[in-house]
Amino acid sequence: MRVVFAASEAVPFCKTGGLADVAGSLPQALGERGVAVTLFLPYYREVRERFPDGEAVGMISVPIGKQSVSARLLRSGDTVFIDCPQYFDRVGLYGDEEGEHPDNDDRFGFFARSVLEGARVLFDSVDVFHVHDWQTGLLPLVLKTLYAEDPVIGNAAVVQTVHNLAFQGNFPKDRVSRFGLPWSVFTAEGAEFYDQLSFLKSGLVWADRINTVSPTYAREITTTNFGCGLDGVLIARKGNLSGILNGIDVDTWNPQTDEHLVRRYGRSDFVEGKAACKAALQRETGLEANASACLFASVTRVSQQKGLDLVLDALEKRVAKGDQFVLLGKGDVALLSPYRKFRDRYPDRVHLHETFDESFAHQVYAGADAFVMPSRFEPCGLGQMIAMRYGTLPIGVATGGLADTVRPHGFLAARAERRSVAGVIGAARRAFEKKSAWQARIRDAMGVDFSWKRSAKLYEALYNTAINR
Ligand code: ADP
Repeated sequence: MRVVFAASEAVPFCKTGGLADVAGSLPQALGERGVAVTLFLPYYREVRERFPDGEAVGMISVPIGKQSVSARLLRSGDTVFIDCPQYFDRVGLYGDEEGEHPDNDDRFGFFARSVLEGARVLFDSVDVFHVHDWQTGLLPLVLKTLYAEDPVIGNAAVVQTVHNLAFQGNFPKDRVSRFGLPWSVFTAEGAEFYDQLSFLKSGLVWADRINTVSPTYAREITTTNFGCGLDGVLIARKGNLSGILNGIDVDTWNPQTDEHLVRRYGRSDFVEGKAACKAALQRETGLEANASACLFASVTRVSQQKGLDLVLDALEKRVAKGDQFVLLGKGDVALLSPYRKFRDRYPDRVHLHETFDESFAHQVYAGADAFVMPSRFEPCGLGQMIAMRYGTLPIGVATGGLADTVRPHGFLAARAERRSVAGVIGAARRAFEKKSAWQARIRDAMGVDFSWKRSAKLYEALYNTAINR
């Protein structure tokens, strides 16, 4: 099976969010199952600077308006970069300090079509195009209209993965002709969304199969609450919509080999291992050396989505009684500022680290007792899975990927509301007192398989369903 992956970011090349982890790890895991995957990626400036050694394997050109825009195809292993300086040799993947790049429609409209052109140059046939989020959402539409009769790719199936429905890539409607598309696609059942051309909606309508990154989020996005205006489209395609949980990189996130830890541990010696890591974390952060305090922690982007505002009161109640809280998080200052005051009230029980710090993240995952992740919505979420692998029990809300992974090991509130979340923090705290039951939960949580191996098997099955449409 030949699969072409089109993504706007992928580790180790470039990353702004979870999509990069998926686009970096999933092709590898599929490769181990014998599925030939080639990843296409824009050759951004930051990629060029860090990976300058691609081999030129061809040229393509794509019409954008009256222009014909050319690009080199650069291959490095199983990755093909689209080298088009006009669109990609600049600061930032999607924008810079001044905001979003104003020509993101051209940049990603171009990218989607250049992946198709690139595949025609490099391969004799393609079975599946796998596209991700709005940035590559135009590809299914372009393939099924402009390339429908193409002998190399015309017959390929398309899978569209939604990592976050909130970002849709909606642009003025004159882009329909700018990208050479027929106006017949610009209908309410097609690519039109409130009189704009929607990249993501195009993907949702023209892909053979749609999936999201957890089964629960796949159901939630067919409701008005979570559907971001696209629930109608998703309901219409319900029979072709499913959810596959993301994996985590189980080598990077392995407490048995983790070089960031003062003491490494596994399922048989986590009691001693976690005690040492907790003491170290308390020492490093200037918190009271207190083994019996319950150490709550959070490693997160600080945004409305992640719901930290919902847990402040409940945490303060616990901290007033001697427990502790560590927050490693960057983001919205309005949401951080009450936490700064909280820290100032309890400087030896609350610690804030307002940066992105990979190494410290490992120490927090290992040293904490409970991981707080009260997301209002969560397409999949990695934090709770990493926490469990480190024997840190998650506390969250029963939504999206949290609903699919946290039970029965951690604690879930029914709703993203203060009272509901406070109740579940109280329940976790009571459970923490019953040492042997708490440790049994940890042992089970650490044994759950969150590897990409499991997800890759499900993606391969999804590709087969798409091919046999
Ligand atoms: P999202 O992709 O919505 O931000 P996820 O839970 O899917 O949330 O993934 C977040 C990832 O980013 C996790 O691996 C988490 O450890 C990491 N992360 C988030 N904030 C920080 C931070 N301030 N420092 C280090 N790592 C962080």
